[in-house]
Amino acid sequence: MAYQAEYIWIDGTEPSPLLRCKTKIVATGKQPGIWGFDGSSTNQATGSNSDCVLQPVFVCPDPLRGGDNVLVMCEVLLPDMSPHPTNTRRACSETAERFKSHEARFGFEQEYTFLQNGRPLGWPTSGYPGPQGPYYCGVGGDKMPGREIVERHTAAMLRAGLGIEGTNAEVMMAQWEFQIGILGAPEGGDQLWLARWLLFRIAEDFGVWATLDPKPILGDWNGAGCHTNFSTKEMRDEGGWDAIVRACEAIGEHVGEHVEHYGVGIEMRLTGLHETQHYSKFSYGVSDRGASIRIPWQVAQDKRGYIEDRRPNANMDPYVVMRLLMQTVCSSAEDAAR
Ligand code: ADP
Ligand code: MN
Ligand code: MN
Ligand code: MN
Repeated sequence: MAYQAEYIWIDGTEPSPLLRCKTKIVATGKQPGIWGFDGSSTNQATGSNSDCVLQPVFVCPDPLRGGDNVLVMCEVLLPDMSPHPTNTRRACSETAERFKSHEARFGFEQEYTFLQNGRPLGWPTSGYPGPQGPYYCGVGGDKMPGREIVERHTAAMLRAGLGIEGTNAEVMMAQWEFQIGILGAPEGGDQLWLARWLLFRIAEDFGVWATLDPKPILGDWNGAGCHTNFSTKEMRDEGGWDAIVRACEAIGEHVGEHVEHYGVGIEMRLTGLHETQHYSKFSYGVSDRGASIRIPWQVAQDKRGYIEDRRPNANMDPYVVMRLLMQTVCSSAEDAAR
């Protein structure tokens, strides 16, 4: 007997990479091992030197096929087994290893929008639905298109054993969110990419496209972000407040460098309106959804916990965002301890 292993990887499409996948039949009792693909068809190689290597990094049960079948998140290597230039995971895991003692943990709030025929799902074919207001955490009538897909996705995440924590309808009609965490690096990135793949794949069955476009509709409609919640052991421990403030201050010294890597089209979304701070500015504050970084009220009360970086776009690469946050916050903590 044999089972199906769905190999999933991140391609080289610019400016934002796409997910790719293909199925390998594996003999029962064997593990899904190294595999390859034609990089000239994924913007990862030239036709004359086309082979790229798929290195499995995270395996979980396939909730769609069931049985013994599995999903296999991969990183892409060159034929000499060094990381491919599009491989952002390797640098993330090296940074995580370097700052291992800080026990950095992440929770992502992935927002996304369902599209059909080039329009947000359930929107009239011309013009707009009623203005924003009733949709966030809404229920009833024809206001909540896509809920069956959200339910299927959540059930699939649970069956796969992935760290989904919740879901909610968002401010713009046809926009939704799921949360995933609390995870370390680089595993949080593996799981978020797999969660995205499951969402895209399940939406296919409904003739719907789930997009991570950060600003699918211009004008007075919220964009889609991927708020990144972050903590270190020092921030979570008793007396973590000083470390929390130090983390915010350190992040404030790298605004341009971070925002540039927080997802393509970030200037379109971080306008200073629609619950965002302007991309060129930096602020942090308790309960402040207009700040770059929000400190949740519970954290301010307990004087320990985590911070929410509200700037990453829905289309950000979690490996990159995690690496930048660890690099900035953990190295400043080490400097302070010296
Ligand atoms: P919001 O009020 O911003 O919509 P959500 O409930 O959607 O908040 O998301 C909260 C996020 O905070 C979750 O992704 C969760 O994993 C994350 N989180 C909670 N505690 C921690 C922690 N100690 N470290 C990192 N992330 C955390
Ligand atoms: Mn949220
Ligand atoms: Mn949200
Ligand atoms: Mn949030």
